[in-house]
Amino acid sequence: NASNVAFIGIGQMGARMVKNLLKKGQEVKVFDTIPLAASSVPGAKVCKSAGEAAKDANIVITMLPTGDIVKETLLADKGILKGIPKKSLFIDCSTIEPKMAQELSRISKENDVRYIDAPVSGGVTGAEDGTLTFMVGGADSDMKEAEPVLSKMGGKIFKCGDIGAGQIAKLCNNLILGITMIGTCEAMNLGIKLGLDPKLLTNIINVSTGRSWSSDTYNPVPGVMPNVPPSKGYEGGFSVPLIAKDLGLAEAAALSCGTPLMLGALAHQIYRALILNGYGDKDFAVVYEFLKGQKK
Ligand code: NAD
Repeated sequence: NASNVAFIGIGQMGARMVKNLLKKGQEVKVFDTIPLAASSVPGAKVCKSAGEAAKDANIVITMLPTGDIVKETLLADKGILKGIPKKSLFIDCSTIEPKMAQELSRISKENDVRYIDAPVSGGVTGAEDGTLTFMVGGADSDMKEAEPVLSKMGGKIFKCGDIGAGQIAKLCNNLILGITMIGTCEAMNLGIKLGLDPKLLTNIINVSTGRSWSSDTYNPVPGVMPNVPPSKGYEGGFSVPLIAKDLGLAEAAALSCGTPLMLGALAHQIYRALILNGYGDKDFAVVYEFLKGQKK
């Protein structure tokens, strides 16, 4: 492998992405503020700071919760900029504000580092299987350089436009995801309350017009599909605060261009209410439990 790769943020997505890099022969240096998370990937070299991981790296990848955290990880005392060699490529795979992506690009440029935004879709199952979709914003040449590494973690890589365009595509996708998950939960809850078998109802929806990723890949009802967070007590997966964050980012983006987001705004408030009702550490499909009215 030509590249020395550093990976910062070894959470639900990052850990699985690093496993695929390692499986395909790519050595990786990792850092996470939670030491247990950082050491969760056998074979990766665990570092004590983002700066240490970035030292000598041609490519630094971040998979962090929010834009503010990515910025902090870049600029901190022992942050990425303290270690990353000049002209190296910084790939942010987190879902963040398109405007923040532009700011990170500017800061990177001032430090002679190249930057692209490359948020992903596919969830923890896509990260596990190495089938993520990457949505890239930035220069063509930088995307070309990123491709061999990104393709070890995902099958589809789309060039969306300039810096921030990957984030715009991602926010549009998650706007649909946040809404369809709630719709699927409502329909499943209704059918089950009226006596239908959840697996039968799922089979029908999945060959009918109500089908979506939320019904056929990540069904929210426990026991309908094996190996998805809803069948594991809604542990792991895509947390409620993260989908709430994405819908908030979509709303802010919509405000900036005067576009109405009616269902998006409602979905955003539903996830925020879930957080206040004690579901903040659960996978976002837990909206099904919320609607069902079952006590946690
Ligand atoms: P996560 O919370 O599971 O993981 C984030 C990791 O970053 C944690 O291990 C945390 O300890 C670490 N971290 C936080 N601050 C840090 C810092 N300053 N330095 C180093 N490490 C730090 O989140 P996730 O589900 O893996 O999501 C990561 C990003 O990917 C988010 O932007 C999310 O919106 C996006 N995303 C998530 C999914 C999903 O299904 N989970 C799918 C697509 C995109």
